[in-house]
Amino acid sequence: MNPVTIITGGSRGIGAATARRLAAAGHDVAIGYRRDQAAADAVVADIHAAGRRGIAVRADTTDPDQVRQLFDAAADLGPLTGLVNNAGITSPIGPFVDLRPDDLRQVVDVNLIGYVLCAQQAARRMARGGAIVNVSSSAATLGSPGEYIHYAAVKAATDTLTIGLAKELAPHGIRVNAVAPGVIRTDIHALSGVPDRADSAAGRIPMGRAGEPDEIAGAIAWLLGPDASYTTGAVLRVAGGL
Ligand code: NAP
Repeated sequence: MNPVTIITGGSRGIGAATARRLAAAGHDVAIGYRRDQAAADAVVADIHAAGRRGIAVRADTTDPDQVRQLFDAAADLGPLTGLVNNAGITSPIGPFVDLRPDDLRQVVDVNLIGYVLCAQQAARRMARGGAIVNVSSSAATLGSPGEYIHYAAVKAATDTLTIGLAKELAPHGIRVNAVAPGVIRTDIHALSGVPDRADSAAGRIPMGRAGEPDEIAGAIAWLLGPDASYTTGAVLRVAGGL
């Protein structure tokens, strides 16, 4: 039977690259998205073009009912074997003293509560084992001073979530790992008010450039696959040396 993987935030950026990569590796894929149905449909078309089954489900990961509906819809593809907890947001880049409570709450809601709700559904449904990959960030260890410390703190929580889940779910045959990207060329930077961040940050990245979404997708695909069969509780940094 083919692997069946859910990717939250699969309509753009790292999630979309991961969907295409996994389809090419033989996964049937369910992508979740929040707003952009046209973008989600385009990713599903690429999954189909790779010869795999794919669906897109509008599901805000902060809402437990919508998360359940995403997992119910994915069940039509077969027994769930993988989850990529990827849907994430930043908030406007700026000094800590200017952080607005609403932005703080949204970052916690999407990047932490959303991940927990999805991991819980996956753990309940992976009766025959499986693998979860949480998309963290190099910010978790850098702290993101002057940019978004609250986001960095929540990504550190993602790493702790990964370690705890890995230990609790190992006896059930479920591996849990994280990928911690550095600066990657996606739309997320426009949403944080610095659309050219992938280029403007290049000077402080040891490899001298931002990463591309597919360079993260490859790491996620490896962690989901059989070559990572003894890997759990790992946080794999893919950040060009950052
Ligand atoms: P992106 O291009 O902005 O894409 C974000 C995706 O998440 C979109 O598909 C979006 O859907 C979806 N999404 C956002 N909020 C959602 C919600 N509440 N419910 C469901 N879906 C939601 O972001 P990205 O750069 O690929 O980031 C993906 C992950 O990588 C995030 O966890 C981010 O923190 C992490 N990361 C990114 C970077 C980077 O430099 N890009 C670095 C480190 C870590 P819609 O388009 O429909 O809204």
